[in-house]
Amino acid sequence: MPALFISDLHLAPERPAANEQFFAFLEGEARGAEALYILGDLFEVWIGDDDLDDPFNAVMAGMLRRLVQDGIALYVMHGNRDFLMGERFCAATGAVLLADPTVHDLHGERTLLAHGDTLCTDDVEYQGWRRTARDPAWQRTFLARPRGARRELVQGMRDKSRAVTQAKPAGIMDVNADAVAQALRSHGVRRLIHGHTHRPGRHDLEVDGRHCERWVLPDWYGPGGYLAAEPGGLRLVGLP
Ligand code: MN
Repeated sequence: MPALFISDLHLAPERPAANEQFFAFLEGEARGAEALYILGDLFEVWIGDDDLDDPFNAVMAGMLRRLVQDGIALYVMHGNRDFLMGERFCAATGAVLLADPTVHDLHGERTLLAHGDTLCTDDVEYQGWRRTARDPAWQRTFLARPRGARRELVQGMRDKSRAVTQAKPAGIMDVNADAVAQALRSHGVRRLIHGHTHRPGRHDLEVDGRHCERWVLPDWYGPGGYLAAEPGGLRLVGLP
């Protein structure tokens, strides 16, 4: 049975088409999988696990829980949008939270799994924000605020980030080749799967004379898609 990989769904109540696609995927393809890996940015925003009380989030968590109850292993990794998903989210869904990055054995091939944002080292400004947001002290202060205040803060950050992102050259927001090589080298693997850049595809590269593969997951702003890891190899699949 395949292991399936998805990322960058950016689920939000205001994007019903993606939500429908996700429901269909969970009821369909995912049911035939041995494991489902969500490599970050499942949600457009996650302001803390008390957001599980939000009706939209509760529905999504319930769908994931049913998948786990049907025997499919569920792994989640933080993205740059939903990095505050924590223990309560995992308890509610039955998901196992993966560190970023993590090496998993996929049918005998040790494979590095990452959201992908840590590889975009040319975006110095973003890397600075990432260090702030992943600082436990910053997170404690943020989570101590009332939900309404957190939501407003995040909305403000999203508006600002949208303006900043539009002004950045596209290349800056793609992965840095040296960062990719270094990640493959330091983990001693020949294969990497990540999302975040919204540039799905397979890239062949050589690191220290060894052939390596980098697989990039699609986002779900359009029809969406996934990557299937089967004994014979990997395959990117678009949804109808
Ligand atoms: Mn991302």
